Amino acid sequence: MTESSFLKALETGLSWLYRTEQPPGGVITHHGIITGALNDRRYTFVPCGPKDLPLVIVNVVRREYDENGFLLSALDENELEELTAILRMMGSFYGYPVVERWNGHPFETGTVQLGSPVHPTLLAAVNTYRAGCPAHPDAGVLCACGWYRDGYQRMTIPDFGGFDSASTHHRVPVAAH
Ligand SMILES: [Zn+2]
Repeated sequence: MTESSFLKALETGLSWLYRTEQPPGGVITHHGIITGALNDRRYTFVPCGPKDLPLVIVNVVRREYDENGFLLSALDENELEELTAILRMMGSFYGYPVVERWNGHPFETGTVQLGSPVHPTLLAAVNTYRAGCPAHPDAGVLCACGWYRDGYQRMTIPDFGGFDSASTHHRVPVAAH
């Protein structure tokens, strides 16, 4: 992973959360969108986490354990701190503060919570999802009639182009304590 493709992916995700006008009738789960794998990492952009504030989550793609079940492929020691620092810096442009972070090393996942709600049209699409299928209220969000697929297809979803490209970076296993 080059530093620039990593930063570009973050900008793409943040721009989707904060700057993208979604069309009427759009539907998306509160889980949001996830990048392809790069450098053994995926990044998820969650429009509505706790308190309806957005989250940026980093996950290790390949989990490796030793024979005792200890995780060998944790996030790097300062990885979540560094991600938080970058997101804080970008926040001055997108207009959010960073308010909280969870996990990170020695876990395989880390979460940063951003302190401002996402674009109102994205929030509306999540709330449409939460209300469930309008034609079959008994089935709720799990209705299989196609309402979710149709609504999702209206959404503007960014292209994390190039993020699946092969990485030359090799990670050194870190023992979990
Ligand atoms: Zn339905």
